[in-house]
Amino acid sequence: MRSYIIAGNWKMNKTVAESVALAKEIVEKTKGISKTEVVIAPTYLAAAKVADVIKGSNVKLAVQDIHWKDQGAFTGKVSVDMVKEIGAEYVIIGHSEQRQYFHETDETVNLKVKKVLGAGLKPIICIGETLDERKAGKLESVLTAQVEGAYKDISNGDALKTVIAYEPVWAIGTGVVATDDQAQEAQKSVRSLVAKLYGEATAEAIRIQYGGSMNAGNAAGLLAQNDIDGGLIGGASLKADTFFSIIEAAEKR
Ligand code: PEP
Repeated sequence: MRSYIIAGNWKMNKTVAESVALAKEIVEKTKGISKTEVVIAPTYLAAAKVADVIKGSNVKLAVQDIHWKDQGAFTGKVSVDMVKEIGAEYVIIGHSEQRQYFHETDETVNLKVKKVLGAGLKPIICIGETLDERKAGKLESVLTAQVEGAYKDISNGDALKTVIAYEPVWAIGTGVVATDDQAQEAQKSVRSLVAKLYGEATAEAIRIQYGGSMNAGNAAGLLAQNDIDGGLIGGASLKADTFFSIIEAAEKR
């Protein structure tokens, strides 16, 4: 039985003080949560302070990316050891905004996934098609390339530590959410792609989140789908109330 994982991706929002305040509210609200894994991903700048706030709580820390190199002349980048030191458990890898604006490719996703797993942390691997790709009937081929690329040379044991976030690019930050059926259909095919690589047992064990305009109003319907094991949430994770409504929707299932 897969447990739900609800993760808030704060992107480039919230100052350090605002991040600390939001983290405190989320810690408070999630005190009674027992079944659902709750994760928040603040900016790097706020991550260490947020780590202090969530220590001993039901909330886990993620960061929004890492570089695959250990250290060196990579201006603006952060290594996996740096985020491990401050207590991050998860790293979001391959977000569509990274792919779209910062030259992320399936190859760099794979390098980062290996680095995160090698450090004993867990990647949340983001995949998803653009609207043009969907309209052109390329959904299956895009997802296949992204899944096969991300998991290249990853062992079965390591694959089991990963989380996948299926995020149709056209639904991210647009307010246009995939229907329950659209999301379920895509996520089912992602699970069968994983099964082709690692077998049914591994595919059944790996959690696949949905991401793309998930909010308090649509979360219950999405989370009721067989192959949706949680959410990666942007906009609706920036307020404790709305984020908590989504957590509650998962907790109630
Ligand atoms: C995201 O960025 O991963 C995301 C799903 O954003 P939003 O919820 O705002 O669509």
